[in-house]
Amino acid sequence: MPRPRKPRCVRDEPAYAFFKPQGIPLRELEMVTLSVEELESLRLVDIEELYQEDAAAQMEVSRPTFHRIIKEARHKVAEALVEGKALGIEGGDYFLAGDTRIFECMECGHTWEEPFGTGVRACEASCPKCGGAVTRKGCGMGRARRGQGPRGRCGPPAGETKQQQ
Ligand SMILES: [Zn+2]
Repeated sequence: MPRPRKPRCVRDEPAYAFFKPQGIPLRELEMVTLSVEELESLRLVDIEELYQEDAAAQMEVSRPTFHRIIKEARHKVAEALVEGKALGIEGGDYFLAGDTRIFECMECGHTWEEPFGTGVRACEASCPKCGGAVTRKGCGMGRARRGQGPRGRCGPPAGETKQQQ
């Protein structure tokens, strides 16, 4: 039975959503779509120069899962550059980290915030009060949400508006 896929922790929405080769009309181009978590894997390893193990912890996935994500990401970027395809960045299965994550103890119900980027995973943490097992309740400021499939887009957080391109 396949395990349900857990959304990946991503620091922020991508700043740029679309790239294409100069001088070729979009209708004549093939399009490659990079998911937000695939872009995040490139950012962590190729920009921030983290080891894959640490990058995997930040995204709260296993190292083999992270390896699959970044391999696919690099393949897509190379495909766009080498074969002259348009590259879009959107969708996927992720939540935004915000600055903190909210952990909740499954034993006593104690909740607390864990800063993002410490690499502490809910499944490995224990309750500071009773030592019980911990689940991640969400991200700070209620920003947790999921992408909506390959063509989906995340809406802006409640109470914020963002200009559509
Ligand atoms: Zn507890």
